[in-house]
Amino acid sequence: MKKLTEGRKMFIIVLAIYIFYGAFFIIFDDFDRRVWAPLSDSWDWHMMGVGVVVLLVLAFILHRYSRQMDERISREQAEKENVLRRQLTQNIAHELKTPVASILGYTETLMDNPDIDQATRQQFIQRTHHQAERLTSLLSDIATLNRMDYAPDMIQKERVDVARLFSDIVQESQPNLAQHNMTLRNCLPGEVVVEGNPSLIYSIFRNLLDNAINYAGDGTTVEVSVTEQDNDWQFSFSDNGVGIAEEHLPRLFERFYRVDKSRSRKMGGTGLGLSVVKNAVVLHGGTITAQAIHPHGLCFLFTLKK
Ligand code: ADP
Repeated sequence: MKKLTEGRKMFIIVLAIYIFYGAFFIIFDDFDRRVWAPLSDSWDWHMMGVGVVVLLVLAFILHRYSRQMDERISREQAEKENVLRRQLTQNIAHELKTPVASILGYTETLMDNPDIDQATRQQFIQRTHHQAERLTSLLSDIATLNRMDYAPDMIQKERVDVARLFSDIVQESQPNLAQHNMTLRNCLPGEVVVEGNPSLIYSIFRNLLDNAINYAGDGTTVEVSVTEQDNDWQFSFSDNGVGIAEEHLPRLFERFYRVDKSRSRKMGGTGLGLSVVKNAVVLHGGTITAQAIHPHGLCFLFTLKK
């Protein structure tokens, strides 16, 4: 079936109002005499004819106008998408440039100076490796976002126990949490089952926890809890760290948006983590918001369909 565009919707609504209005008069014109109007003596067939002609003219004008309106809307959408795509391509190129330039720089130095001392050589190799890792996470985030943007139907869903998945993530992150002297309060119950894609749900919790570890600050506490609603689970993922100023919150889920660029790069951040989180939540029929906690801290509230 053809999709109802804004123009078509308007066309149908105005036409329906007109027809309803006409029908109302046909039926109720002589209602007080309990006679169907076209059969009554007072029924004006000329007026009826004029009504039909007006209806046809109106339908024609409306049809043309609604088509023009649809064309204008899709043109504007295409322009907006083009601008966004161009910005995204520029951002990706910019993000790729830095690690690639560093890798080239370090490897060229190593090749041009075969007699370089062992300690410096080792340091350069480590830095090259770190930049290659950054490239890998960047490419993996871009691939995940592309998959969600262009092939959401191909993403397979199955029964996922979020509580179990999160406790695995906590175990993996234990050394990192300990290094930053952070406490994790996992208030999830024994089982939180959703119909979802395990790898995307993993990305949601992994990114939020990595961010808390990277940005909240040493000695802080992360708390994860959930409440059950009719059709969804409502998760709360909060930390009592440095938080984010209110003005940044509306843009937090944009691709490549960072509050502190140099800190993010230093931490190996791609600027795509929260976009991946948001897209994954939306793909699971949920919504997500970020709220500042007073006096300090950050809280993500999101839902996942059961
Ligand atoms: P990045 O790869 O830079 O971490 P994200 O999209 O994951 O990108 O996060 C966007 C920005 O939001 C980060 O650069 C960081 O400045 C900020 N941020 C994310 N989580 C937190 C947090 N828990 N506390 C403070 N700032 C955060």
